[in-house]
Amino acid sequence: MISNTYNIQAIEIQDTGKYIISMEGQNHFYDSFLVNDEKLTKGHHPDWVIVNSIPKKLERLVSKHRKLVYYKLKNSELSKVTDYPAMLPLESINKSQTYEDSCVFKEPYHEIGYLYEPHYQEIAAHYEPHNFNLKIILSIKDFPDPFSFEYKARTTDLYRKSDVYTINNSSLVQQELDKMLFAPPLLIHRPVKLKAKDLLNIIRQHVKDNINKDVAVISSDYDFFFDVTKIVPLHKIKKYQVDINQGTKKKQKFIDKEVTNKMEKIIGFCATRKDYERYNGSSLLNDLIGDNAEDLDRKLKELLDSLMEFINTPIVECLHCNAQGYIIKSSASLINKCNEDMGDTPPLCHPYL
Ligand SMILES: [Zn+2]
Repeated sequence: MISNTYNIQAIEIQDTGKYIISMEGQNHFYDSFLVNDEKLTKGHHPDWVIVNSIPKKLERLVSKHRKLVYYKLKNSELSKVTDYPAMLPLESINKSQTYEDSCVFKEPYHEIGYLYEPHYQEIAAHYEPHNFNLKIILSIKDFPDPFSFEYKARTTDLYRKSDVYTINNSSLVQQELDKMLFAPPLLIHRPVKLKAKDLLNIIRQHVKDNINKDVAVISSDYDFFFDVTKIVPLHKIKKYQVDINQGTKKKQKFIDKEVTNKMEKIIGFCATRKDYERYNGSSLLNDLIGDNAEDLDRKLKELLDSLMEFINTPIVECLHCNAQGYIIKSSASLINKCNEDMGDTPPLCHPYL
């Protein structure tokens, strides 16, 4: 059975025999088509797929289903004792009122319709051929392999409900002018932007997945604000006593307690200027821009790597400035040298946020 006629736009990739094609309105169903007996290969763009030769044959998968073929007497014995037909063709139903199980029969079966029930035929999954119109819109010299930009991101709200989602090529923003000048699959070569909000949500997920909990903790995790606090071991452990019988009529009983760490905020991010102005001590994330998706991916990887290195590097109090700042633990042995050589602040000392 041949039904729909599909409109196919194609871009020829010279010297390869391949074509990048788009089928109007069908991008969600590409998995169900065959072109020249082959499945379609996903490209860079959700609307466009790659085929290995010029489309000559188009088929679409029809999944397994049951098909209504006629109506039959619920009680087949009736046809022996009456002149009611054993079955009624589909034409005996008023089409506009077909609900299969509760349909309205035309005359002369209107009165006896309730005695009949639908009869179905099982149809196995198969491919059906379709007509199509092919329009070759462009011929290009070379076409890069599909580059898939894909990161997990996490939203969260005031009630700490969070939701993980995927940011991929189609979440990236392209320049409006480029979209007018270039056919969609060719936009892969053009500059792309990752929105600051998406960047924040990628950072949120990446930090959650990679933070070393011995060194740092996530201290704020809101839609509008995300920050990380370092655990800084105290140079001088603070000892104190607690009366465990306080508030009771029992005799005082003291036990020793100690504080070994302090918590210091070291990094915080907002994604909008409004939030940035509202929350002190945060950094405003900018949109991240790449020459193309691959370049953007490289920049984002660098950013995430250096961020995790910063978060997961152990730090200690800087004793030179009486713990006003911190130094990286691995360079702590250098501080003596700084004490000798430098003025008030050794160069290795960083202020807390
Ligand atoms: Zn210092």
